[in-house]
Amino acid sequence: LSVMRLDKFVCKSTELTREEATRYIHSGAVVVNGEVLTNEAAQVHENNLVLLNGIRLKARDFRYIMMHKPAGTVCSNIDEMYPSLFHYLDVDKVSELHIAGRLDADTTGLVLITDDGRWSFHITQPTNDCGKVYRVQLSKAIPAEQSVDLVAQFNQGLQLQGETGLTRPAKLDIIAPREVLLTITEGKFHQVKRMFAAVGNRVVALHRERIGDVFLDLGIGQWRYLSKNEVESFN
Ligand code: URA
Repeated sequence: LSVMRLDKFVCKSTELTREEATRYIHSGAVVVNGEVLTNEAAQVHENNLVLLNGIRLKARDFRYIMMHKPAGTVCSNIDEMYPSLFHYLDVDKVSELHIAGRLDADTTGLVLITDDGRWSFHITQPTNDCGKVYRVQLSKAIPAEQSVDLVAQFNQGLQLQGETGLTRPAKLDIIAPREVLLTITEGKFHQVKRMFAAVGNRVVALHRERIGDVFLDLGIGQWRYLSKNEVESFN
């Protein structure tokens, strides 16, 4: 941190892109220590008083966290039927954080938490093809002779109840008759449960073990900051 270009400072302290930040700077909307600065390459210090349209900007580093979500918690900033998983997170300003891809209350596993909206968009936007890998326990055994067809169906896309289009191609790996790994690149409401409902089965337990190249490596209820490599693996 400490000294950086004005456009970078504006980006870091807002969710503006570099182009948007530059446009604001050129328009005279950015005031540094009482002086309008229109040069986006001007150097500013993190302690400088920087105003954008009169609002104080504070340079800060974004936070990127992984957590092993326990069952019986909700991915919400407030408690609902179950306590919020944010109770497990002992960091400041929890209300500024959001979850990149929520899990149901009964689902366990990998949750990514951040205050960087652009980063979470990379993860959740289906067209970015970021795979989410779920380990799924099923109520009905998949007969060996149906497995090839089922893998093809998940790959071709399923018609979920209440949806118009098909699901995007999903990768189904059958581990055991009642246990599969499913990789999907989107996150419709209750998607995995609805996909198995669409083929006449039922999910009895659901656990997310990976998002993109980031693997869950923590005990239940634990959390840690992501490494730089993990953070940048989504860009
Ligand atoms: N799909 C579901 O049905 N539930 C989850 O929690 C995640 C994916």
